[in-house]
Amino acid sequence: MMPAFRPTLPHYRRNSYGENGQAVVVPAVYKEESDRLFSRNRFNQWASDRISLHRTLPDQRPAACRKQLFPTNLPPASLVIVFHNEAWSTLLRTVHSVLDRSDPRLMREIILVDDCSEIKGHEELQAPLEKYIQKLKIVKLVRNKKRQGLIRARLRGYKEVTSPVIVFLDAHCEVVDGWLEPLLARIHENRSNVVCPEIDVISFENFGYSYASGIRGVFNWNLHFRWRTLPAVEQQRRKSVIDPIRSPTMAGGLFAIHKKYFEDIGLYDDEMDIWGGENLEMSFRIWQCGGNLEIIPCSHVGHVFRKSQPYTFPKGAGETLNKNLQRVAEVWMDNYKDIFYNRFPNLRQHSYGDISKRIELRKKLKCKSFDWYLKNVFTDVQYPDMIFLAKGELRNPSTGYCLDSMGNKEYADIGIYPCHGQGGNQLLTYTIRKELEMDEVCLDALSRRVAGTVKMAPCHRKKGTQLWEHKEVSNDTNKSI
Ligand code: UDP
Ligand code: MN
Repeated sequence: MMPAFRPTLPHYRRNSYGENGQAVVVPAVYKEESDRLFSRNRFNQWASDRISLHRTLPDQRPAACRKQLFPTNLPPASLVIVFHNEAWSTLLRTVHSVLDRSDPRLMREIILVDDCSEIKGHEELQAPLEKYIQKLKIVKLVRNKKRQGLIRARLRGYKEVTSPVIVFLDAHCEVVDGWLEPLLARIHENRSNVVCPEIDVISFENFGYSYASGIRGVFNWNLHFRWRTLPAVEQQRRKSVIDPIRSPTMAGGLFAIHKKYFEDIGLYDDEMDIWGGENLEMSFRIWQCGGNLEIIPCSHVGHVFRKSQPYTFPKGAGETLNKNLQRVAEVWMDNYKDIFYNRFPNLRQHSYGDISKRIELRKKLKCKSFDWYLKNVFTDVQYPDMIFLAKGELRNPSTGYCLDSMGNKEYADIGIYPCHGQGGNQLLTYTIRKELEMDEVCLDALSRRVAGTVKMAPCHRKKGTQLWEHKEVSNDTNKSI
């Protein structure tokens, strides 16, 4: 059977959908088709399929980036892209944007690792992909016979690498002109520099391209990755807008590392499954074991941050992520792991497998403590309020439902969900300022005059719409806030 896909769509090409990073508007007649494709990938595949695999992007980097000079002997790189059930157009646009915008002397090979994509519904990733990449010459495809998850899939790709530098990208990226040299130059200066591009946003809704700048990676005490603006000390340390930004953590999908250094610091924790936590593990390990993790402002790469994950977690999403995060906490965080466990008390009994090899690695590399990392690298870390009026869930006793952040962040509606008593998205702190805080955002009535949904918004610490009074109701056994 012929696969149901069209790698090129000439009549749409003529319309220049998405050129120069523009957003794509879905005409009403295609709404149904685009909704169906959306649920497959959790991004607007209809839009992506109409954008040229060679679409142009604006270069909005600081002007100084275009004047930079680089050594002639930069080390060449191999690119590793892992994917599971990726859409054809996003995968191939990643490949073509790299081929179109990298000096061929510096980008030696592109290794695609198919992490056992399902055949049904993704037929194009089988023989058609093999045929297509043949003509691209430097692209190689390897396949996992069994689903491994992104961590072991990347390790599989690493085994094929023949260049001194490895660049990892997700399978739904687009690079901006000049992206590669600044990364390689920084690694060339010092092999223990691990570098990330500025990660621009390709909208999951319409594939519009927007620039990001001036942020760095951190984490919160649920061990979730977060972006934050630069603290004053980091702004002062940098002499120019194009100086590297020291980043306490990396987002994970897009970075470059010297192959030898990757080996020296222990590759990845290959006991981590499917997705999540490996970025923090790598970040803590780099800093604590003597390396340097940076974001390079002259290197820009866009990434589709999708709405949610489209793929399965064979052992369950919670189970998998918890185990990965526990491995991070147990190996790298010393006593600070208790702040994480206090938020998820049930995890203390949850098994995380054997970590002896990673503990041994930490000893062998004579890595510094987590306390050192917090005091020297993530200096703007915020500790959870140790003093609070109440902590727990906010339950409606007659329905057994609790307020739940549903994993959503700022400006999302607050949800309700059956109470599960396990903290996480239902853990709420009634702060000494009488705010209701969940995962660093505050419940906000948004307007005191207009009655409406309560949303989650950044905590402004100014009371007003974020002040919640707790009153005892005398004629009822229920307490209300
Ligand atoms: N991926 C994979 N195997 C998996 C899960 C993910 O190869 O079991 C790939 C996925 O196709 C993507 C990369 O790993 O290219 C990162 O995953 P994703 O984009 O879902 O992560 P996010 O960017 O949302 O953090
Ligand atoms: Mn991704």
